[in-house]
Amino acid sequence: MQHNQSLKCVPGLTAVHRTSLTGRRLAQRYVCAPLVEEIMMKCHICKSESTKELPTGDYEHVKCPDCGEYKIAGTVVEMAKSRNIDVPSTRVVLRRMRAAGDKIPIITSKEVKFQ
Ligand SMILES: [Zn+2]
Repeated sequence: MQHNQSLKCVPGLTAVHRTSLTGRRLAQRYVCAPLVEEIMMKCHICKSESTKELPTGDYEHVKCPDCGEYKIAGTVVEMAKSRNIDVPSTRVVLRRMRAAGDKIPIITSKEVKFQ
């Protein structure tokens, strides 16, 4: 497997690449993102198109045009797969944490509000 130095590979995501040898589409278990270190995703709170930085530890660092910049714990991401996050009340929590001086608030299972 050759690695292009200008790309960073993110494990755990699935991307489809066309191989030059066979022209066949090949699913691989990682995606190569540009060095900007931001990949497109949907906001965990409101599902808007957002970007996230490469994962650091058990948090995702999300930049949503509507919710702003926040970090969300991996446990909450898991919980949000089976339950809907309450958008207005979670944004209120984010606003409160920012008002308290936390520029990039971290949403854990304590802060998140479900519908
Ligand atoms: Zn959002």
